[in-house]
Amino acid sequence: MTKVIVVCIVMLIVFISEVLIKSATARISIVLFCIFLYTLFLLRTPGREKVKLFPPNTVIARNFSYQDIDFISAWKTDDWGFKNNAIDRNNLTVVAIGDSFTEGVGVGIDDTWCSQLTLKGKPTYNLGIQGASPADMESIYKSHIDKLNTKVLLICYCGGTFVRNRGGFVIIKKRLMYRNFQNIVRDAREKGIQPILVYLQHLKQEQSREDYEIIDMGHWAEKNNLPFIVLPDRIARNFFIHDGHMNKKGHSETAIALSWRIKYILSVCWCKDPTIDVHGNCLECDKRVQ
Ligand SMILES: [Zn+2]
Repeated sequence: MTKVIVVCIVMLIVFISEVLIKSATARISIVLFCIFLYTLFLLRTPGREKVKLFPPNTVIARNFSYQDIDFISAWKTDDWGFKNNAIDRNNLTVVAIGDSFTEGVGVGIDDTWCSQLTLKGKPTYNLGIQGASPADMESIYKSHIDKLNTKVLLICYCGGTFVRNRGGFVIIKKRLMYRNFQNIVRDAREKGIQPILVYLQHLKQEQSREDYEIIDMGHWAEKNNLPFIVLPDRIARNFFIHDGHMNKKGHSETAIALSWRIKYILSVCWCKDPTIDVHGNCLECDKRVQ
Protein backbone atom coordinates (compact mmCIF):
# COMPACT_ATOMS: atom_id res chain seq x y z
CA MET A 1 0.00 0.00 0.00
CA THR A 2 2.80 2.39 0.97
CA LYS A 3 4.53 1.57 -2.31
CA VAL A 4 1.37 2.51 -4.28
CA ILE A 5 1.13 5.86 -2.45
CA VAL A 6 4.80 6.64 -3.17
CA VAL A 7 4.40 5.74 -6.88
CA CYS A 8 1.30 8.00 -7.07
CA ILE A 9 3.19 10.90 -5.48
CA VAL A 10 6.11 10.45 -7.90
CA MET A 11 3.72 10.33 -10.89
CA LEU A 12 1.98 13.47 -9.64
CA ILE A 13 5.32 15.32 -9.36
CA VAL A 14 6.29 14.19 -12.87
CA PHE A 15 2.88 15.30 -14.24
CA ILE A 16 3.07 18.72 -12.60
CA SER A 17 6.61 19.22 -13.87
CA GLU A 18 5.45 18.32 -17.40
CA VAL A 19 2.75 20.98 -17.25
CA LEU A 20 4.65 23.75 -15.46
CA ILE A 21 8.25 23.35 -16.55
CA LYS A 22 9.20 24.10 -20.12
CA SER A 23 12.91 23.16 -20.00
CA ALA A 24 13.58 19.52 -21.04
CA THR A 25 16.74 19.35 -18.87
CA ALA A 26 14.80 20.45 -15.81
CA ARG A 27 12.10 17.84 -16.49
CA ILE A 28 14.66 15.04 -16.83
CA SER A 29 16.39 16.20 -13.64
CA ILE A 30 13.09 16.04 -11.75
CA VAL A 31 12.41 12.52 -13.03
CA LEU A 32 15.91 11.38 -12.05
CA PHE A 33 15.52 13.00 -8.63
CA CYS A 34 12.23 11.12 -8.14
CA ILE A 35 13.90 7.81 -9.07
CA PHE A 36 16.65 8.61 -6.54
CA LEU A 37 14.08 9.33 -3.82
CA TYR A 38 12.20 6.12 -4.63
CA THR A 39 15.42 4.06 -4.37
CA LEU A 40 16.17 5.65 -0.98
CA PHE A 41 12.64 4.74 0.13
CA LEU A 42 13.15 1.11 -0.90
CA LEU A 43 16.45 0.88 0.93
CA ARG A 44 15.26 2.41 4.18
CA THR A 45 14.51 -0.94 5.83
CA PRO A 46 15.95 -4.25 4.70
CA GLY A 47 13.31 -6.81 3.90
CA ARG A 48 9.56 -6.67 4.04
CA GLU A 49 7.35 -6.47 7.09
CA LYS A 50 7.55 -9.35 9.48
CA VAL A 51 5.48 -12.43 8.59
CA LYS A 52 2.65 -13.15 10.95
CA LEU A 53 3.72 -15.78 13.46
CA PHE A 54 1.18 -18.40 14.45
CA PRO A 55 -0.41 -18.18 17.90
CA PRO A 56 0.85 -20.72 20.46
CA ASN A 57 -0.99 -24.00 21.16
CA THR A 58 -3.40 -23.45 18.28
CA VAL A 59 -4.63 -25.75 15.54
CA ILE A 60 -3.58 -24.41 12.13
CA ALA A 61 -5.69 -25.65 9.23
CA ARG A 62 -5.17 -25.05 5.55
CA ASN A 63 -7.43 -26.48 2.88
CA PHE A 64 -7.40 -26.00 -0.87
CA SER A 65 -9.58 -27.57 -3.52
CA TYR A 66 -6.48 -28.72 -5.46
CA GLN A 67 -4.96 -30.31 -2.37
CA ASP A 68 -3.04 -33.58 -2.77
CA ILE A 69 -4.61 -36.64 -1.17
CA ASP A 70 -1.71 -37.19 1.27
CA PHE A 71 -1.49 -33.48 2.25
CA ILE A 72 -1.86 -33.03 6.03
CA SER A 73 -3.68 -29.73 6.48
CA ALA A 74 -4.17 -29.50 10.26
CA TRP A 75 -1.54 -29.40 12.99
CA LYS A 76 -1.12 -27.77 16.38
CA THR A 77 1.53 -25.14 17.16
CA ASP A 78 3.80 -25.52 20.17
CA ASP A 79 3.91 -23.06 23.09
CA TRP A 80 5.96 -20.60 20.97
CA GLY A 81 3.76 -20.95 17.86
CA PHE A 82 6.11 -23.15 15.83
CA LYS A 83 5.78 -26.66 14.37
CA ASN A 84 7.48 -28.86 16.94
CA ASN A 85 6.78 -31.73 19.27
CA ALA A 86 7.76 -31.17 22.91
CA ILE A 87 11.56 -30.82 23.07
CA ASP A 88 14.21 -29.65 25.56
CA ARG A 89 15.25 -26.28 24.13
CA ASN A 90 18.32 -26.14 26.38
CA ASN A 91 19.91 -29.22 24.88
CA LEU A 92 19.65 -28.91 21.10
CA THR A 93 22.01 -29.87 18.32
CA VAL A 94 20.20 -27.92 15.62
CA VAL A 95 18.02 -24.82 15.30
CA ALA A 96 16.53 -24.28 11.84
CA ILE A 97 15.24 -20.99 10.42
CA GLY A 98 13.40 -20.88 7.11
CA ASP A 99 10.04 -20.77 5.37
CA SER A 100 7.34 -23.34 4.54
CA PHE A 101 9.93 -25.87 3.32
CA THR A 102 11.42 -25.86 6.82
CA GLU A 103 8.12 -25.52 8.70
CA GLY A 104 6.91 -28.56 6.76
CA VAL A 105 3.71 -27.43 5.05
CA GLY A 106 1.65 -30.50 4.11
CA VAL A 107 3.24 -33.03 6.45
CA GLY A 108 2.47 -33.85 10.07
CA ILE A 109 4.66 -32.61 12.93
CA ASP A 110 6.29 -36.04 13.26
CA ASP A 111 7.26 -36.05 9.57
CA THR A 112 8.95 -32.65 9.14
CA TRP A 113 12.67 -33.01 8.39
CA CYS A 114 13.34 -31.19 11.70
CA SER A 115 11.43 -33.84 13.69
CA GLN A 116 13.15 -36.55 11.65
CA LEU A 117 16.57 -35.07 12.52
CA THR A 118 15.56 -35.22 16.19
CA LEU A 119 14.73 -38.91 15.77
CA LYS A 120 18.19 -39.43 14.26
CA GLY A 121 19.81 -38.22 17.49
CA LYS A 122 20.19 -34.55 16.54
CA PRO A 123 17.59 -32.69 18.64
CA THR A 124 16.27 -29.98 16.31
CA TYR A 125 14.06 -26.96 16.98
CA ASN A 126 12.06 -25.76 13.98
CA LEU A 127 11.70 -21.96 13.66
CA GLY A 128 10.39 -22.23 10.08
CA ILE A 129 7.36 -20.14 9.16
CA GLN A 130 5.54 -20.28 5.84
CA GLY A 131 6.10 -17.25 3.60
CA ALA A 132 9.18 -16.04 5.51
CA SER A 133 11.51 -13.72 3.60
CA PRO A 134 15.25 -13.61 4.40
CA ALA A 135 14.48 -10.47 6.46
CA ASP A 136 11.81 -12.40 8.39
CA MET A 137 14.34 -15.18 9.00
CA GLU A 138 16.73 -12.64 10.54
CA SER A 139 13.97 -11.20 12.69
CA ILE A 140 12.74 -14.62 13.91
CA TYR A 141 16.34 -15.70 14.59
CA LYS A 142 17.09 -12.57 16.64
CA SER A 143 13.95 -12.80 18.74
CA HIS A 144 14.39 -16.48 19.67
CA ILE A 145 18.05 -17.51 19.60
CA ASP A 146 18.87 -16.29 23.12
CA LYS A 147 16.24 -18.67 24.52
CA LEU A 148 17.74 -21.69 22.74
CA ASN A 149 20.90 -23.69 23.41
CA THR A 150 22.23 -25.24 20.20
CA LYS A 151 25.46 -26.26 18.47
CA VAL A 152 24.28 -25.63 14.90
CA LEU A 153 22.12 -23.04 13.16
CA LEU A 154 20.68 -24.04 9.79
CA ILE A 155 19.84 -21.04 7.63
CA CYS A 156 17.42 -22.76 5.27
CA TYR A 157 16.93 -20.73 2.14
CA CYS A 158 14.33 -21.88 -0.35
CA GLY A 159 15.27 -21.17 -3.97
CA GLY A 160 14.23 -17.76 -5.35
CA THR A 161 12.63 -16.49 -2.14
CA PHE A 162 14.92 -13.44 -1.88
CA VAL A 163 12.16 -11.72 -3.91
CA ARG A 164 10.04 -11.68 -0.75
CA ASN A 165 12.36 -9.03 0.64
CA ARG A 166 11.36 -5.43 0.18
CA GLY A 167 13.59 -3.62 -2.25
CA GLY A 168 11.72 -3.10 -5.53
CA PHE A 169 14.60 -4.09 -7.78
CA VAL A 170 15.96 -7.63 -7.97
CA ILE A 171 19.54 -6.50 -7.41
CA ILE A 172 18.58 -4.61 -4.22
CA LYS A 173 16.50 -7.50 -2.86
CA LYS A 174 19.43 -9.85 -3.41
CA ARG A 175 21.86 -7.51 -1.67
CA LEU A 176 19.47 -7.19 1.26
CA MET A 177 19.21 -11.00 1.49
CA TYR A 178 22.97 -11.34 1.79
CA ARG A 179 22.94 -8.58 4.41
CA ASN A 180 20.28 -10.54 6.38
CA PHE A 181 22.37 -13.72 6.20
CA GLN A 182 25.57 -11.85 7.09
CA ASN A 183 23.93 -10.46 10.24
CA ILE A 184 22.67 -13.91 11.26
CA VAL A 185 26.04 -15.59 10.62
CA ARG A 186 28.00 -12.94 12.56
CA ASP A 187 25.66 -13.16 15.56
CA ALA A 188 25.67 -17.00 15.59
CA ARG A 189 29.48 -17.10 15.50
CA GLU A 190 29.65 -14.63 18.40
CA LYS A 191 27.44 -17.01 20.38
CA GLY A 192 29.65 -20.03 19.52
CA ILE A 193 27.01 -21.54 17.23
CA GLN A 194 28.13 -23.09 13.92
CA PRO A 195 26.04 -21.52 11.13
CA ILE A 196 25.32 -23.59 8.01
CA LEU A 197 23.62 -22.27 4.89
CA VAL A 198 21.19 -24.77 3.34
CA TYR A 199 19.71 -24.41 -0.13
CA LEU A 200 16.33 -26.11 -0.53
CA GLN A 201 15.33 -26.57 -4.15
CA HIS A 202 11.87 -26.49 -5.67
CA LEU A 203 10.51 -29.24 -7.87
CA LYS A 204 12.56 -28.97 -11.04
CA GLN A 205 10.81 -29.35 -14.35
CA GLU A 206 13.36 -27.74 -16.62
CA GLN A 207 16.73 -25.99 -16.45
CA SER A 208 16.12 -23.88 -13.41
CA ARG A 209 17.14 -20.35 -12.50
CA GLU A 210 17.90 -21.90 -9.13
CA ASP A 211 21.03 -23.48 -10.63
CA TYR A 212 22.50 -20.01 -11.18
CA GLU A 213 21.42 -18.89 -7.73
CA ILE A 214 23.18 -21.91 -6.18
CA ILE A 215 26.44 -20.91 -7.92
CA ASP A 216 26.08 -17.29 -6.77
CA MET A 217 25.29 -18.33 -3.21
CA GLY A 218 28.16 -20.82 -3.23
CA HIS A 219 30.61 -17.99 -4.00
CA TRP A 220 29.16 -15.91 -1.19
CA ALA A 221 29.36 -18.83 1.27
CA GLU A 222 32.98 -19.52 0.31
CA LYS A 223 33.92 -15.86 0.77
CA ASN A 224 32.35 -15.98 4.24
CA ASN A 225 33.92 -19.33 5.20
CA LEU A 226 30.44 -20.73 5.66
CA PRO A 227 29.47 -24.39 5.11
CA PHE A 228 26.95 -24.55 2.27
CA ILE A 229 24.68 -27.56 1.75
CA VAL A 230 22.77 -27.98 -1.49
CA LEU A 231 20.40 -30.89 -1.22
CA PRO A 232 20.65 -33.45 -4.02
CA ASP A 233 18.38 -33.20 -7.04
CA ARG A 234 16.78 -36.59 -6.42
CA ILE A 235 14.88 -34.96 -3.56
CA ALA A 236 13.06 -33.00 -6.26
CA ARG A 237 10.99 -36.08 -7.06
CA ASN A 238 9.50 -36.12 -3.60
CA PHE A 239 6.99 -33.30 -3.78
CA PHE A 240 3.23 -32.94 -3.56
CA ILE A 241 2.25 -32.83 -7.21
CA HIS A 242 -0.32 -30.04 -6.90
CA ASP A 243 0.90 -28.13 -3.87
CA GLY A 244 4.62 -28.08 -4.73
CA HIS A 245 5.94 -28.50 -1.19
CA MET A 246 8.03 -31.51 -0.16
CA ASN A 247 5.99 -34.55 0.79
CA LYS A 248 6.70 -37.00 3.60
CA LYS A 249 9.35 -38.83 1.54
CA GLY A 250 11.01 -35.53 0.62
CA HIS A 251 11.25 -34.57 4.31
CA SER A 252 12.64 -37.97 5.20
CA GLU A 253 15.34 -37.76 2.51
CA THR A 254 16.16 -34.18 3.50
CA ALA A 255 16.73 -35.34 7.10
CA ILE A 256 19.03 -38.15 5.92
CA ALA A 257 21.00 -35.82 3.66
CA LEU A 258 21.37 -33.16 6.36
CA SER A 259 22.18 -35.56 9.18
CA TRP A 260 25.49 -36.89 7.86
CA ARG A 261 26.54 -33.51 6.45
CA ILE A 262 26.02 -31.85 9.85
CA LYS A 263 28.06 -34.64 11.44
CA TYR A 264 30.92 -33.96 9.02
CA ILE A 265 30.72 -30.15 9.37
CA LEU A 266 30.88 -30.40 13.18
CA SER A 267 33.92 -32.68 12.98
CA VAL A 268 36.20 -30.28 11.09
CA CYS A 269 37.63 -26.80 11.67
CA TRP A 270 35.82 -23.77 10.19
CA CYS A 271 38.07 -21.11 11.74
CA LYS A 272 39.29 -18.35 9.45
CA ASP A 273 43.02 -18.77 8.69
CA PRO A 274 43.59 -21.51 11.28
CA THR A 275 46.97 -22.20 12.87
CA ILE A 276 47.76 -25.92 12.60
CA ASP A 277 49.51 -28.03 15.27
CA VAL A 278 51.83 -30.98 14.59
CA HIS A 279 48.86 -33.36 14.25
CA GLY A 280 47.19 -31.22 11.58
CA ASN A 281 44.57 -29.93 14.00
CA CYS A 282 43.52 -26.32 14.56
CA LEU A 283 45.11 -24.72 17.64
CA GLU A 284 41.97 -22.71 18.31
CA CYS A 285 39.18 -25.34 18.06
CA ASP A 286 41.29 -28.54 18.17
CA LYS A 287 39.44 -29.95 15.15
CA ARG A 288 40.95 -31.31 11.95
CA VAL A 289 41.77 -28.61 9.41
CA GLN A 290 40.24 -29.44 6.01
ZN1 LIG B 1 39.57 -24.19 14.13
